Amino acid sequence: MPRSLVTIDLAAIRHNAGVLMRVLESSELWAVVKADGYGHGAVDVSRAALEGGATMLCVATVAEGVALRAALREARILVLGPTPDDDVSLAREASLELTATDERVPEDVPVHLKLDTGMGRWGLGELEAPGRSVVGVMTHLATSESDPGFARGQLERFRSATEPYAARYMRHAANSAAALTLPETRLDAARCGIALYGVDPFGVDASRFDLRPALRWESELGQVKRLLPGESTGYGRRFVATEETWIGIVPVGYADGFRRDLSGTEVVVGKTRAQVVGTVSMDAVAVRLPEEFARGAPVTLVGEGVSLEDHARVAGTIGYELACGIRTAPGRGEREVQNG
Ligand SMILES: *Cc1c(COP(=O)(O)O)cnc(C)c1O
Repeated sequence: MPRSLVTIDLAAIRHNAGVLMRVLESSELWAVVKADGYGHGAVDVSRAALEGGATMLCVATVAEGVALRAALREARILVLGPTPDDDVSLAREASLELTATDERVPEDVPVHLKLDTGMGRWGLGELEAPGRSVVGVMTHLATSESDPGFARGQLERFRSATEPYAARYMRHAANSAAALTLPETRLDAARCGIALYGVDPFGVDASRFDLRPALRWESELGQVKRLLPGESTGYGRRFVATEETWIGIVPVGYADGFRRDLSGTEVVVGKTRAQVVGTVSMDAVAVRLPEEFARGAPVTLVGEGVSLEDHARVAGTIGYELACGIRTAPGRGEREVQNG
């Protein structure tokens, strides 16, 4: 057993793509695989998503697109972020599609014009007469997870601005949350990331949408010790035992993406939930055990019985950020892909 093992279940990705395809009916599913597939591995996830029915891969940068192109010769790849002028020729060579986020609309490469309808970030304020390189028009919703009313308003602005072009260009607006819960946003295609990975965009529980988490993160107890009352574990003595307490040390820490603000969250030791206590260090965390466990007892950090959503609530963040932060490196943690 390496210090920890991240397993990516491609069957879950294919399953989730199938769920989204059914939800989307006649709209296309575009798989968002930026940031190395939300930390899951962009190439593996892309293959599985395409097998599951996705018709486009979306990345954030030209560099991500070029890397993906090396592995996937045929797939359509769209760069969602702004592209510096210097990168346009690279994008053209790699047959990428680009997003124009301001008035600089590249020629001789397929372009999706991004309209800012309320995100207040990248995007054109108005849709000018689209040039001949344009193949799509898009917008991005700011509140599909939190304020469906505002999202509907954005969609209305988008619809009215793009209605004259509806027949000529693909129109796309939805992310995962919108695709799952706001049918009118589905248009010609939905750009789905988090749901594809089996994480609930609303941070509650992905199983209510029949989505399956694709990422498991496992380790084991590297040491088990008994603290006497008054003894502590970890930096700063932030956990001091008030009674005899069994403590397990897991060889994973914030350098692996188990963040310091996950102190207080629970993991699963054997089949029992156990709380992370004290300060999370760079390479280790302590868990409070209900009884003595053997060294080497399996620890599920993310997986059966404990989700990224659970951890995100404790850390005051979102599953997206935790998934992107999980890191494996030679000698630290390993990554395995299951294709069954
Ligand atoms: C990241 C991103 C998405 C995917 O969002 P999810 O909530 O992960 O589905 C869609 N569109 C754009 C423009 C994005 O940047």
